[in-house]
Amino acid sequence: MVKNEEFISNVVPVKATTKDKKNKLDVLNNQKQISLAAEREKALREIVSTSANTFDVKEAINSIVEQAGKLFDADRCFFIQFDLDNDRYFPLKDYAEYLSSKDIRSQTSRPVDESEIISFTRQTKQKKTLFVDDIRKIELPQKTIDMLVKDLSVKSFLALPVFFENIMYGALIFHYVKDFMKFSQDDIEMAQAFANQAAIIIHQSKLYQSMQEQTRREKLLREIVSSISSTLDFDEIRQMFVSKLGSVLDSDINVLYLRDPKTEKFLPVDEHSLHVSSDKIKSPLGINVVEEYGWAEYIKKNKRLEIAYSDIEELKKDYNLCGTKPEEFLDSYGIKSMIGIPIVYAHTFLGFLVINFVKAQKQITEEDIDLVKIVAKQAGITLYQSKLYIQAQEASKVKSEFIANMSHEIRTPLNIIIGFSELMSSSKVETSKQIKYLHNINNSGKHLLNLMNDIIDISKIESGNLKLNYETIDAESLINEIVTSINLISKTKDIEIEAAPANIIADKKILTQILYNLISNATKFTPDSGSIKIKSKVENNNLIVSVEDTGIGIDKDDLSMIFEKFKQVDSSVERSKQGAGLGLAITKQLIELLKGSIHVESAKGKGSKFWFILPNATVKKSMMKS
Ligand code: ADP
Repeated sequence: MVKNEEFISNVVPVKATTKDKKNKLDVLNNQKQISLAAEREKALREIVSTSANTFDVKEAINSIVEQAGKLFDADRCFFIQFDLDNDRYFPLKDYAEYLSSKDIRSQTSRPVDESEIISFTRQTKQKKTLFVDDIRKIELPQKTIDMLVKDLSVKSFLALPVFFENIMYGALIFHYVKDFMKFSQDDIEMAQAFANQAAIIIHQSKLYQSMQEQTRREKLLREIVSSISSTLDFDEIRQMFVSKLGSVLDSDINVLYLRDPKTEKFLPVDEHSLHVSSDKIKSPLGINVVEEYGWAEYIKKNKRLEIAYSDIEELKKDYNLCGTKPEEFLDSYGIKSMIGIPIVYAHTFLGFLVINFVKAQKQITEEDIDLVKIVAKQAGITLYQSKLYIQAQEASKVKSEFIANMSHEIRTPLNIIIGFSELMSSSKVETSKQIKYLHNINNSGKHLLNLMNDIIDISKIESGNLKLNYETIDAESLINEIVTSINLISKTKDIEIEAAPANIIADKKILTQILYNLISNATKFTPDSGSIKIKSKVENNNLIVSVEDTGIGIDKDDLSMIFEKFKQVDSSVERSKQGAGLGLAITKQLIELLKGSIHVESAKGKGSKFWFILPNATVKKSMMKS
């Protein structure tokens, strides 16, 4: 028996071998050998040309294995792919295999682990050719003997490394079962030439495949970007993200989990956030996966976490720290691999994009994760934009309503002005009536002017064109002035003023308008029998003014909207007062401009109390001149 050392020395690095001239002469002299060599050369050319036509790696390998097996009269020929990432060969089930006849046992029928073929792999990994004419003559580990001799009845074998530009693609292995095979140097060189060609073909088809993959991904991104620009429909866009990504990654359950940034809670999966690859895959539609299965806890603990698990068992191990519910989900949906990327935009955590693999485990690559990240980034921008779009749409709706309201408000006094002025132009109208008509025209004119002023104020505040002009004001006398001017119009109400004399620093025009709006509202919505109380004080450098009335009050359902721009409490009482619904909106905006706040308490039929607080209302003592 040849010792193991000799077995190893039997390994012939092809390039290093000098040709045995005598042996070659023998071959040349032998007609049979010549024709065999010619046949092999021809077959080699053929295989190169046919295999080069296919860009499918699997197909290329299958074709190489088949041709090689025939060409070298092997009983069993197979290719074991090398897993570059893990520096080992892929499991046997992935091998392409050629069998010379039906009675040759396929090795895919039995489980084989790498340790059994360690002797080949060690050699081929080092890019060395290995040939064994008679398996009985070499010493092998028992496991290998069991496999080769007992299970596979191998008599001779040849193992060739398949590599190109130093990249190891795998090993091409020939088994001889029926007879022993005596390998000549030419046989081996020819086989290695074949393996080298195979390496080029595999290299090319892998390159082609990765180029195709790249093109596919670029196409996806182009499609995503173009669909985003063609629609602003939130549902359509979400659906596109999950379905397109699913088709590129060949994944099975793709979900865009949406999170409400206000409540910080995730929403149940709706039909637009979900793409499932087939009817056979269990769908999580309608289920609040994140909240119900304990993911929320996990996400909270691992804020904005990116996950990618080729083997879901690893995820389960990590999860065990946080409870077992996610495992329940993973098991019941049969998830084998997963990628989860958070969706974040403008510092807002908007959700999670999760890609699940159910049909088969997926070897997740860096490129896969990058792809999901790019899509998640786009999703972030889009979710954010479509929210802005919805807000803009709402704002424009409110403005249209406002214009409709305003047109109505403007038309009423204008009709009065036109109607009464036409009546006046008729000579028959008595003088007493003329005075009444003139009064109506004057009132409507004033009303129109008020409306226009309100609109101008709103637009000034909104465009940011309002310049602040601070000065020292005596709050008490300002309130008295305003009450007097309002009393000129409605003298009937009992107005009590309780203002502590104080010099305050404020923009007089703005403060006047705030007070005027609140006090005139109080008079407008309080019957003549009612009363109004105005209180003003300075406390901790804040000016606090309240206007309290015993008027009609405001329904508590309406309280939230009275400060909204362009909105009115749509009651007949309010309508009869001919307001435009702008006064309080302007008041609130002005108060906020002065960094203050406005508040209200009201009960229907009992009255209302409005109060506002303005900060920095007095000059600090240290700054005052003595
Ligand atoms: P308008 O310019 O129409 O008066 P405001 O913005 O000033 O509009 O007020 C909005 C609505 O709030 C009014 O239409 C009215 O229904 C209600 N409101 C405001 N102040 C009072 C008040 N003191 N008492 C009762 N209702 C009030």
